[in-house]
Amino acid sequence: MNQDFKNPLTSFQKDAFIEWIDLLHWSLPSQWKIHNLINDIRHNYNSIAKKPSQIKLILESHNVPTAPIWNECKLNDASDSGYACGLWKLFHIISIGVSEQHRTVLGGKERISSAHVSDVMLNYVSIFFDCELCQVNFLQSHEKCIIDKCASLSDDVNEVSTNWKELTTWIWYLHNDINKRKLQEEARMSGKTVSKVEEDAIIWPGTQQCPQCRDLNGEWNRIQVFSFLFNEYWPKGISNPRFVVLDRSKRIKRTVKRKEVNIIPFTILWLSIALSLWSLQKNMSLSKIKKFALSKWNEVRQKSLGVKDKSEKSYQSYPSNQNNRMRPKSIGVARRTRIDPFSL
Ligand SMILES: Cc1cc2nc3c(=O)[nH]c(=O)nc-3n(C[C@H](O)[C@H](O)[C@H](O)COP(=O)(O)OP(=O)(O)OC[C@H]3O[C@@H](n4cnc5c(N)ncnc54)[C@H](O)[C@@H]3O)c2cc1C
Repeated sequence: MNQDFKNPLTSFQKDAFIEWIDLLHWSLPSQWKIHNLINDIRHNYNSIAKKPSQIKLILESHNVPTAPIWNECKLNDASDSGYACGLWKLFHIISIGVSEQHRTVLGGKERISSAHVSDVMLNYVSIFFDCELCQVNFLQSHEKCIIDKCASLSDDVNEVSTNWKELTTWIWYLHNDINKRKLQEEARMSGKTVSKVEEDAIIWPGTQQCPQCRDLNGEWNRIQVFSFLFNEYWPKGISNPRFVVLDRSKRIKRTVKRKEVNIIPFTILWLSIALSLWSLQKNMSLSKIKKFALSKWNEVRQKSLGVKDKSEKSYQSYPSNQNNRMRPKSIGVARRTRIDPFSL
């Protein structure tokens, strides 16, 4: 991550970070142990956003070296050597993962379009990749891709109409464009010009690596390129992708508070009723009880009627005006409030 992140992340940076980690969560091969780390980060979004250095502690707790050694990519002894190459590899894996796993996403599907994923990667590079030249060139390569129609990224989330493999083509095209820019920059620095042959030679994969990737006219065969990239980057034998719920758009937690029923008051109530009935039965005969109960019931009834009369009186006695009907404030219209069970 960019060394400048000593201050809390802005809301834009935080969103870009969350989208990036969610993308890793969704697209990386399910068997990879890195998911433990990703999940830990996902549980700490707020604290990382407040204090970005927090992420180092999380990395340490997973025994991930904070200055990783990019075995396959390392070119020299510099501590960050191989990082850029590693990031490219990650981008290619993600792009294939998106194509492989899009059917396995539950919920929040509206977020997953090929255009969205490319935005997440563009944002990640422009905010977190600590190389200004790379940031500028990456965005320019993306613009060139749009002009060249290098891949048809889509906002459409419909599985049928979206060609998810286009994302793999998009990042492959961008990587090749950066390869060319890098070659031209290196040549310019040493006062040379790049020939067409040299430029073609830098394009990946070469004809020897993948003879079937180009047709006889030298045009790309996109289907073959995709399967070449797939064999190169996607781990073998991953046949059961896990189901992932992406629900950031509905992140508001809807916790339904379970009201635990306390049975103790009910038990005490029932016991006291049973006890009073038992003592009544003991002290009075059944007829006495009946008589007693009837008189009690009448008493209660009288009382309730009396109260009702009073309330009717008080309502009628209130001055009423045809044009300006006034009601006591306390009687105001009781609004029916619909309780949304999910808002509890
Ligand atoms: C987003 C981004 C932008 C960058 N911008 C610049 C820049 O503007 N200027 C600059 O000098 N450096 C830039 N870099 C760094 C540069 O691209 C290389 O990563 C770095 O120089 C190391 O080169 P490398 O020889 O290890 O091969 P890398 O280019 O890093 O490639 C790693 C491996 O990927 C494979 N590969 C090569 N091309 C493709 C492709 N098209 N599709 C799929 N796989 C491929 C090859 O097996 C290769 O060995 C950028 C890196 C990134 C991630």
